[in-house]
Amino acid sequence: MPATTTTEDDREESEPESALETARRQLREAAEHVDVDSGVIERLKHPTRVVRVSVPVERDDGTVDVFEGYRAQHDDVRGPYKGGLRYHPEVTDEECIGLSMWMTWKCAVMDLPFGGAKGGVVVNPKDLSDDERERLTRRFAEEIRDEVGPNQDIPAPDMGTDAQTMAWFMDAYSMQQGETIPGVVTGKPPVAGGSHGREEAPGRSVAIVTREAIDYYDKDIADTDVAVQGFGSVGSNAAKLLDDWGANVVAVSDVNGGIHDPDGLDTHAIPSHAEEPEAVMGYDATSTITNGDLLELDVDVVVPAAIGNVLTEANADSVQADIVVEGANGPTTSRADEMLAERGIPVIPDILANAGGVTVSYFEWLQDINRRKWSGERVREELESEMLSAWDAVRSVVDERDLRWRDAAYVVALERIGRAKEARGLWP
Ligand code: GLU
Repeated sequence: MPATTTTEDDREESEPESALETARRQLREAAEHVDVDSGVIERLKHPTRVVRVSVPVERDDGTVDVFEGYRAQHDDVRGPYKGGLRYHPEVTDEECIGLSMWMTWKCAVMDLPFGGAKGGVVVNPKDLSDDERERLTRRFAEEIRDEVGPNQDIPAPDMGTDAQTMAWFMDAYSMQQGETIPGVVTGKPPVAGGSHGREEAPGRSVAIVTREAIDYYDKDIADTDVAVQGFGSVGSNAAKLLDDWGANVVAVSDVNGGIHDPDGLDTHAIPSHAEEPEAVMGYDATSTITNGDLLELDVDVVVPAAIGNVLTEANADSVQADIVVEGANGPTTSRADEMLAERGIPVIPDILANAGGVTVSYFEWLQDINRRKWSGERVREELESEMLSAWDAVRSVVDERDLRWRDAAYVVALERIGRAKEARGLWP
């Protein structure tokens, strides 16, 4: 019996669907728009491999806790598996599979020579000390050592992990291999094989894509009001760049809620999560706002850049923005996507908008392999050029085939993946 169920097809959205359900639904819908062999589409519904491991960690008080970890590898027809590792209490194997599918499309939209993967550990990193997070990361690296490698599967930061996590991972892997192998993970600190500009890259790409979308819809960035949900690496960098480029950033938020000023916030004065976690509410703004209300502000662009499933059936009809740009992975449920489309509100999808992260990961991997560092300026220039190429590829499908942005991005990705699968064939 095929492992895929289709029950989610007709499901009412009483509660948001899982990342895997959303990813599979999006694939089915996009498949209608591409001339790709149905066998290829069938193969793409299933991950190649999902590894589940136990990660025992000695706590600072000497007791031992065991955490569950996963690595889902979706597809590698275009190159090694690539994607982040998240530390979050709600990580599941199914979520990792859904997110790994999005990585496959994201790398293909950007035309990077990578496939898609995602992994994680079911843990709240806030409950661990630095030493405990280090021990967890090193043991997790050891448990999945056979699955990863610079030509096999290359993890990166995601929710709850950062450059330090990647440095520990790279060190643990390298110590066992007997040589330093920086290309096994990306998103490392620049002093340990990382790339300049990797940290800000997802936010920078969100800003670039927002700027292009503003232009496409005949708006002037200087007259554009933007609301950004989330002030982590994606949201804070996107907000600050858009502010620098003349947009009026009227609201930002973190997990505790948001701040709002119709005249515009001084985004550079608000500490990002990396500078001071959860400090947004400490900024002296005109008024505060809930995370829910931020998404319903009457602005030109709203950027959900925090977590998944925040635009749902419950609030999609209340969105007043003219454009939605997805900073987070999977912030819009399928039902909300339909409702926004019916109302004529374009949604620029995550697999294009936040793809700057994996694109600079690719630059980092090249730098590691070639043992040659790029300047920050080169990274910014090449990212700008890659983002504009991907934007143009997706925009021409939107224009030529009158598709939604998400479907158009899937068409670009699926055609590239489909051609690669057909060329390589199915063996044995
Ligand atoms: N976790 C990031 C994403 O979702 C980056 C992945 C990577 O750089 O491999 O795109």
